[in-house]
Amino acid sequence: MKILVPVKRVVDFNIKVRVKSDGTGAETAGLKMSMNPFDEIAVEEAVRLKEKGVATEVIAVSIGEPKAQDTLRTAMAMGADRGILITTETSPEPLAVAKLLQVIVGRENPDLIILGKQAIDDDMNATGQMLAGLLGRPQATFASKIEIADGRAEVSREIDGGVETISIALPAIVTADLRLNEPRYASLPNIMKAKKKPLETIDAASLPVDIKPRLTVVSVVEPSERKPGVKVASVAELVEKLRNEAKVI
Ligand code: AMP
Repeated sequence: MKILVPVKRVVDFNIKVRVKSDGTGAETAGLKMSMNPFDEIAVEEAVRLKEKGVATEVIAVSIGEPKAQDTLRTAMAMGADRGILITTETSPEPLAVAKLLQVIVGRENPDLIILGKQAIDDDMNATGQMLAGLLGRPQATFASKIEIADGRAEVSREIDGGVETISIALPAIVTADLRLNEPRYASLPNIMKAKKKPLETIDAASLPVDIKPRLTVVSVVEPSERKPGVKVASVAELVEKLRNEAKVI
């Protein structure tokens, strides 16, 4: 069984991003970049399935600028067998990413595609669902557990107020939620080994896919500052403030 894992290079989750002075987006120049945290979880799950003997090959794919090859090397250091880098000049929108992934799926024919539930840069939470729609394949989003048996995936998914378990036929698309697993750190020997694993580079312009942006960013602004809290001396004062200032009771 082949597993495809799309991994996105994003600003590291520890870094507080700032809005560009012209308000067109977030400043990324010179910032530490890492693999999207949900994609690390997706890679970990795929590698665990290979270690259990359920999967035979794990392929990581990334779409973006040439630097995204670092993200693919990280995926390979975690245990992915090979990488595919699709280079684009600008960061493509989820629909374009899904269409490019559709081409790779056509070539590789994976039984399972595990994506992150969302990329923490734009928080779109759309690519997995769009890919499932384009491919006409079953999907299970927000997975917190995946069991593979008899050509099906049993997936527990986090929903409001609980966990839902669904069974879908393979080939399928699953998106990884936070509690699916705890990703491993790539060890130094594995980082060295990953440098020798195959990495294919494809120019997006050579593929029959229209990746022109369809969305227009109107403006990007910092969230408004949170007002400082106050300490109240008594329950009576709290009730008075809730009633007359906050007007919530
Ligand atoms: P999004 O819909 O942008 O929130 O992204 C959801 C998931 O789609 C991510 O966690 C990745 O698994 C995948 N994805 C999105 N953009 C890319 C990209 N440029 N390259 C590879 N995978 C991506």
